[in-house]
Amino acid sequence: MDKTMDINEYLGEVLVSREEIQKKVKELAAQITEDYRGKKLILIGVLKGGFVFMADLVREIKIPVEMDFIAVSSYGSSTKTCGVVRLLKDIDVPLNDKHVIIVEDIIDTGLTLTYLKEMFSSRNPLSLKICSAFDKPSRRLVDLKAEYQGIVIPDKYVVGYGLDYDGILRNLHDLYILNEKVIDK
Ligand code: 5GP
Repeated sequence: MDKTMDINEYLGEVLVSREEIQKKVKELAAQITEDYRGKKLILIGVLKGGFVFMADLVREIKIPVEMDFIAVSSYGSSTKTCGVVRLLKDIDVPLNDKHVIIVEDIIDTGLTLTYLKEMFSSRNPLSLKICSAFDKPSRRLVDLKAEYQGIVIPDKYVVGYGLDYDGILRNLHDLYILNEKVIDK
């Protein structure tokens, strides 16, 4: 794919504006602040897509919080996942004395987070919850819900705010629908 075009050529319409995203980030952070006051909390961001949301979210949380990252890659083509997840980077701290929140960019089929939930559950954290910036519930293949649910969006392939197409477009403030003309170009 040509990765040197004007950035606007990759983009369709804005689906969620930066203002709406920041409002939701503040809401989720306020809820987390209230729920975990006086508790030992670690946020685990899922790379790469989750890094922008994680950075915004932690700065709105008003209690002490540890943070770490894992990296996963899911097999499949660039706009479809097939549910097989490969762990590329793990965390190196034990979780048995901590409350854990997994921070993800988007929940689509729910297969990635189902895998991650099982993996982290086996490490016996005090509690384990999910916080996601965006959610496409209409695409779910498994029964999975985020306790801290972000903005619900329709079944469209989106980019920006951490979400990529073939490695690019993560650096946009707003969430866009990908311009279909660029797919496999
Ligand atoms: P799931 O396992 O829930 O189907 O997929 C989760 C992962 O697929 C997300 O973390 C994200 O990396 C990717 N994904 C799902 N939907 C989209 C989308 O609309 N745009 C982009 N860029 N990635 C997506």
